[in-house]
Amino acid sequence: MPFICENVECRAVLARGQVRTVQENEGWCFYCPDCKVRNALNDIGAPGGPVELVQPERSDLPHKVVATARPLEDGKYAAQLRVQRALGMKGTYAVEEHWEQLGVFLDAHEAVAHAKSVAADWLGKA
Ligand SMILES: [Zn+2]
Repeated sequence: MPFICENVECRAVLARGQVRTVQENEGWCFYCPDCKVRNALNDIGAPGGPVELVQPERSDLPHKVVATARPLEDGKYAAQLRVQRALGMKGTYAVEEHWEQLGVFLDAHEAVAHAKSVAADWLGKA
């Protein structure tokens, strides 16, 4: 079972031989060789036995939110949103949810701001 970097921007799949696991004061972890993010590990080995490291299941998985404004034919802008949710141990890639049109605005900046506020609401509830 490979390790998967928890950084949604990275999501590197790493063979165990590729990463160097270290024991720090807070517990076991590895640092992603691609993005340098710290990934926590749990030792599930029997007491006194060999160390057996697994990645913890996460309920508070990181999100990537992309808010954009799409120009419309009439010169207005549609607010759009893409939200990526990491799958934890289930897979390499994040699930992505799309909102194609959250509202139409006269100004591209307003459209992006609206998409971001929708994202903040949505992530707050999740
Ligand atoms: Zn990484």
